[in-house]
Amino acid sequence: MKTVNDINFKEKKALIRVDFNVPLDASFNITDDTRIRAAKPTIMKILEDGGSCVLMSHLGRPKNKENEFSLKHLVKPLSDVLGVQVKFADDCISENTSKMVSNLKSGEILLLENLRYYEEETKGAITFAEKLSKFGDVYVNDAFGTAHRAHASTAIIANFFPENKCLGLLLASEIENVKKVLETSEKPVTAIIGGAKVSSKITIIENILDKIDHLIIGGGMAFTFVKALGGKIGSSLVEEDKQDLALEILEEAKKKNVAVHLPIDAIIADSFSATANTRVESVGDIPAGWMGLDVGPKTNELFAKVIRDSKTILWNGPVGVFEMEKFAEGTIVLGKNIAKATQNGSFSLVGGGDSVAAVQKFNLTDKVSYVSTGGGAMLEMLEGKTLPGIKALM
Ligand code: AMP
Repeated sequence: MKTVNDINFKEKKALIRVDFNVPLDASFNITDDTRIRAAKPTIMKILEDGGSCVLMSHLGRPKNKENEFSLKHLVKPLSDVLGVQVKFADDCISENTSKMVSNLKSGEILLLENLRYYEEETKGAITFAEKLSKFGDVYVNDAFGTAHRAHASTAIIANFFPENKCLGLLLASEIENVKKVLETSEKPVTAIIGGAKVSSKITIIENILDKIDHLIIGGGMAFTFVKALGGKIGSSLVEEDKQDLALEILEEAKKKNVAVHLPIDAIIADSFSATANTRVESVGDIPAGWMGLDVGPKTNELFAKVIRDSKTILWNGPVGVFEMEKFAEGTIVLGKNIAKATQNGSFSLVGGGDSVAAVQKFNLTDKVSYVSTGGGAMLEMLEGKTLPGIKALM
């Protein structure tokens, strides 16, 4: 697959699908501009070649073109990040927008209004994709966050660019970093899977068992394993109907010589609350009415040792209810140990949902090798799926 680095954009218009689905506060200020900054290298490469950029993105899930979902709120912060005054088209496919695109000169950037103001976008309508396709000589997909959707602007549109389509640099680096973990990794490889439920992580675990040496299981999902093994878990989170599956995973891991590390102790609480009474308890000895909401100190030590000896580390999902300070310690210690291993030369990838929020919250983003920008998209890559947005560029 080609990337923008394989194309000279001189006097060409690049039609770029970016992921500017950023969080805004009540006054429409961006509260986290990671996704905007992540799109910058691709845009700058095209401008430096002497090309121009038409940017298209969605923002939120509008129903009736509500003002709060307008991409006009992004024009100033985007212009500031790029150092170029960005022009704005207040719709996606009108005559007027078409004129603005035609008038775009080398070095200029035009941002289109929210793609999801049109229901054709999520429906993957061919006619809508065709209209958008008129706005560029080359189609570039750099929207990793939506690469797992077969929408008009993320997948269908690529059909109108049989030769002139390529990956943006963000999308390319997301793919490369997953490959580093799943295909070209240095051993020992450790996957840390946490979070709430076994059911949402099962496909990932099945896909990676062939590729890893150690599997650390933490978070709420660990208790389904502990209970299946005969432990007493009180009122900890459990998926009763996934206990057999948990035992099958352990059996499969054994066959594949993967060492599974479950928590040995837990911070238990008498209610799911920031003000609950807490204490440390063995993970399989939790009394009725109490629940495990974080891993305990012995588990922290156990996980630390595995991480210290790993050359490649994948982290998905917190090992406790990190949103509450009382139950954040396990996730903080884990993140710090991954940072330490990274400093000592290991490769670490943090991806998929809440573990990304955790590394941001605890200021560890710059201390791991790579933090993915896509939640659902990263999960699907780890599950071994080829994402529609990537397939369309092949
Ligand atoms: P996921 O989206 O599946 O990665 O799950 C993330 C969520 O799991 C976070 O909101 C955590 O608060 C939650 N979580 C982690 N550990 C536990 C636990 N022991 N009990 C309940 N929820 C947990």
